[in-house]
Amino acid sequence: MEALDITFDARSELTGEVGPVKCGLCGEAARGRMLKSGGMLARSFGWDCPCGALGLHVPLYDLDELYSDVLKVWGLKPRDPEVSPPAPVGESGLLSAVYVDGPALLRSLFAEARSQGAQVAATEVLVRLILPGFSSPASIWDVLWARAPRPME
Ligand SMILES: [Zn+2]
Repeated sequence: MEALDITFDARSELTGEVGPVKCGLCGEAARGRMLKSGGMLARSFGWDCPCGALGLHVPLYDLDELYSDVLKVWGLKPRDPEVSPPAPVGESGLLSAVYVDGPALLRSLFAEARSQGAQVAATEVLVRLILPGFSSPASIWDVLWARAPRPME
């Protein structure tokens, strides 16, 4: 698995570049950046490949909330996920402990992107966040790739 360090200064701003990772679709080195916009994806990380693919770091446990923003940032039509209504947990009737089925949402997201003509792939990268005086343990990030169809001329 590829490994990457991302370094921040004391004000939580990036110092230097976000390193490249291998494109999930073509295998070329894709350039990293912090997203400036993208709704809830702002300040997430993305990688642009010369082939036109964009890889996004998307935590699958948040995919229910990020779903339509991911499609939009990929240049596709935003859609909301089709999820079954949350079931009450136990006897309490509370809905707070909603289980997010990340893998099912990912399948749904990729099916939606493909239906819009995009090519998709998922890769993993081992990332360590480095802040002044603190380094997080390395964690595995899911990077979701899509290459939107070229707009018609
Ligand atoms: Zn590529």
